Amino acid sequence: MSATLLVQLNDGEARPLSECAWIVTEPCGCVSGIMTAQFSDGTNTIATEEAAWSHFYEFEGAEARKRDQAAGVTFRLVGHDEGHQLLRRTCEHVPQWGRKPRPEADGYRWAMAESYPRNAGSRLHLIGNDALNVDRWNSPSPAPHFEALCGKREKWWSAESHDTDGRVTCLRCERKAEAAT
Ligand SMILES: [Zn+2]
Ligand SMILES: [Zn+2]
Repeated sequence: MSATLLVQLNDGEARPLSECAWIVTEPCGCVSGIMTAQFSDGTNTIATEEAAWSHFYEFEGAEARKRDQAAGVTFRLVGHDEGHQLLRRTCEHVPQWGRKPRPEADGYRWAMAESYPRNAGSRLHLIGNDALNVDRWNSPSPAPHFEALCGKREKWWSAESHDTDGRVTCLRCERKAEAAT
């Protein structure tokens, strides 16, 4: 038999950690994410708030974490059932999640530089549409570089949502876009 880790939730109720989840609360107060606090077999234990932060930002990296922390994102331990109920609600705040929307610039899109190996902490840059319409099979050799608003140069850029969703945007590109509007 394995030991059961009991935790006391904010409402005072004691629960096994394996029946709990960490919820991610956005600046507006809505819940945008959930993480199991412990698998039912007792592995993958995330028992502290600090561990929850590190685990959640493993992929997005330190800059995203810092930004979200400053914006007012919090992690809270709740029962699984309560967590999933909260997550099902849609955020109807404007702006959504209480976050400042990314600035946009005419003729540019937020895109990821396709350098290899790909870095999980890569930022998105504002790149001209011409860089996104390149026919990779018929491009001259060597392929030309395209320059983002911030000055970052790369041959290939991707604005596909699977490359850009949830990514941190380059502060230098943001400032250039804001200055241009
Ligand atoms: Zn909201
Ligand atoms: Zn940039």
